[in-house]
Amino acid sequence: MRTQKKILAGMVILAMAIAVNATVYKYFRGGLMIRLLQTGERTIIDLPIEEYLVGVVLAEMPAGFELEALKAQAVCARTYTLKRHFRHTGHEQEASVCDDINHCQAYVAPAAYLERYPDNEWAVQKVRRAVLATRGVVITLRGELVEPVYHSTCGGHTEDSSAVWGYRHDYLQGVPCLWDSGSPHYCNTLNISMAEFQRLLGLDQKKPLVIGWVESTKNGTVEKIAWGNTIMSGHQVRQALKLPSAKFNITVNDETVAVTTVGSGHGVGLCQYGANGLAEEGKNYRQILHHYYQGITLYRVRY
Ligand SMILES: [Zn+2]
Ligand SMILES: [Zn+2]
Repeated sequence: MRTQKKILAGMVILAMAIAVNATVYKYFRGGLMIRLLQTGERTIIDLPIEEYLVGVVLAEMPAGFELEALKAQAVCARTYTLKRHFRHTGHEQEASVCDDINHCQAYVAPAAYLERYPDNEWAVQKVRRAVLATRGVVITLRGELVEPVYHSTCGGHTEDSSAVWGYRHDYLQGVPCLWDSGSPHYCNTLNISMAEFQRLLGLDQKKPLVIGWVESTKNGTVEKIAWGNTIMSGHQVRQALKLPSAKFNITVNDETVAVTTVGSGHGVGLCQYGANGLAEEGKNYRQILHHYYQGITLYRVRY
């Protein structure tokens, strides 16, 4: 009886493996091509995914970062790309992705990059090594590709996705990050005149500026701030003042205002400077990804 059950379970697993493989072969036999919309020239190019990823990692992370950090970035970029590739993204001419950083991911063709930085052949080679060493590796959770969001510098602790975007993902919960203090974006102060500050925020310049109350997440992102009867979100203030992040602290003096920000970016998911710091401590890309995306499974797609 027990043996029969084992055989049955084995057959189910085998059938599932064949089904997964059939899907993978359908999409990937002979390699996987990505259709990229270049928004500047409004041109479409088809290129092998790994070649496309070299251009994404070159554009998204400094090539001087540790190899393991670049590998982690490559896995994020691949996961993002495949997620867009298999979903209707609304790009013209059925492009999978575009090079607009406000819509998809940044991309710079290695040839164009070398034209701009002729001495940086090493950078292209290093990034290509990172991409090829992780060929096919993607981040999954319960069999689905995750949303592999990342940012420059979290400032000591990453943020919950629910606090920033209002939706919760188990793998996008804030985690401590003790490795990004060397980032140039770790802490910045903007000194600005009172009049300019009020003008940028659309506040009444005739009234004295008084901060009523501030609501922040436990990780320091400002959610709401009140100036008298005017209530703004931290995101609105960040946009109006062009702050690097919504983790900020405002000090009002007589004629000036000092705005101190911690970190750069939304703070959710992988922290790039933190990833580099972890790599400097000897952690590999798998350990880095498992730290910033809790509970995930790394899966290698064969193509
Ligand atoms: Zn796009
Ligand atoms: Zn960090």
